Amino acid sequence: MTRSLYDLDTGDLAALVAEAGEPPYRARQLAHWLDTRRQPDPRAMTNLPRSLRARLSERFAGTGLTLDRHQAGDDGWTHKFLFRLPGGDAVESVLMLYPPAGASPDDDWEGGPRGRATVCISTQAGCAMGCTFCATGQFGFTRHLSVGEVVEQVARVSTMLPELRPGPAAPDHLTNVVFMGMGEPFANQEATWGAAYRLHQGFGLSARAITISTVGLVPGIRRAATEPLPVNLAVSIHAADDATRDRLVPVNRSWPIAELLDAVRDYVTATRRRVSFEYALMAGVNDDPEQARRLGRLLAPLRVPRSGGHAAHVNLIPYNPTPRGPGGSSVAPRSIGDTGFSPPSKAAVRRFREAVAASGVPVSVRANRGVGIDAACGQLRTAAGRPGRRTLPMAEGPGTDGADPEDRP
Ligand code: SAH
Ligand code: SF4
Repeated sequence: MTRSLYDLDTGDLAALVAEAGEPPYRARQLAHWLDTRRQPDPRAMTNLPRSLRARLSERFAGTGLTLDRHQAGDDGWTHKFLFRLPGGDAVESVLMLYPPAGASPDDDWEGGPRGRATVCISTQAGCAMGCTFCATGQFGFTRHLSVGEVVEQVARVSTMLPELRPGPAAPDHLTNVVFMGMGEPFANQEATWGAAYRLHQGFGLSARAITISTVGLVPGIRRAATEPLPVNLAVSIHAADDATRDRLVPVNRSWPIAELLDAVRDYVTATRRRVSFEYALMAGVNDDPEQARRLGRLLAPLRVPRSGGHAAHVNLIPYNPTPRGPGGSSVAPRSIGDTGFSPPSKAAVRRFREAVAASGVPVSVRANRGVGIDAACGQLRTAAGRPGRRTLPMAEGPGTDGADPEDRP
């Protein structure tokens, strides 16, 4: 099913053009509009004959993403977009702009990725993994996105970027893509990998500019080890013992920490690439220095073959309160959101960070972006879409559209 023009690959475009009785070079022009100009609207493809434009827009009417809402935060350095999908569901994408070194408007961003324009994209409407601290997880799963729907988020944000720059210090083009929006990328592997390859081969992004974040689906990590495209892998660990992780990340009951780390170790051996571990710090739940030391002991033995350097990098995310009530509040409560978790104190973050660092494992604290517009990690949800199903990952798989049963926990 074609849900976006980005669901069409080179062969599909050639067939489409042939069917319309047009010469083959029209397919290359179409691909140029889609991938280089990042323009999915056939009516805007001005070097195509009017008849072909009309034919395409008629044929693909009702496909593609509709921008329903745009919100700016952090003085224009963060932007959140709500895209309506064909069929009525909605997903969110977030653009984060980072000034070049020496031009930071805010000390909080110190150590952040300089001179980057990163888009955070969604792979599913909702999420079936049910992580107890995550707004998307609490909302439930609605459906998988297609390859084209994932890619089109990048295209749309990328073409809006030049107009959204808060000033001349901001980057003028998209530099990075992170699969960290709504959904679990490895629960929708075909769309995730299909999109990653298109972004690399079509959009020309380097594989190292692409990061896929997983809640820890072991079959997905094992597959990532065999994919030739060397994208970055991020694993959401959030706890160093199974009892705590079971509470936060229900999928831990299917793939506990030891199995997860086995898969990561094999991934590192096969790829010789480093892996980042995301750890959302929640007050009184997982922010004790003893837990940091335990995390350090778990991750310090992970080494890059031959060089012997640390293969793990810990990325601490101070917990973002999740939006309250339907529609989400744009005012993030200081503590205790929907989920009952609260952010750690600054002192707790510092102590935790120091304890991880003492184990030798590289560690950083992620700057909090987009909190005021509920665009920070874990604050995305389809408030504007239909409510999803609250599937327990162990009990039942997420939906059926294109899902590979192997992907399900
Ligand atoms: N499903 C994938 C990717 C999307 S979530 C995954 O879980 O990795 C992106 C990151 O935000 C994950 O590390 C997730 O655990 C984290 N996150 C979710 N809710 C959060 C919250 N309320 N505060 C801080 N981080 C959160
Ligand atoms: Fe899904 Fe990731 Fe949220 Fe867990 S943290 S519910 S896997 S989006």
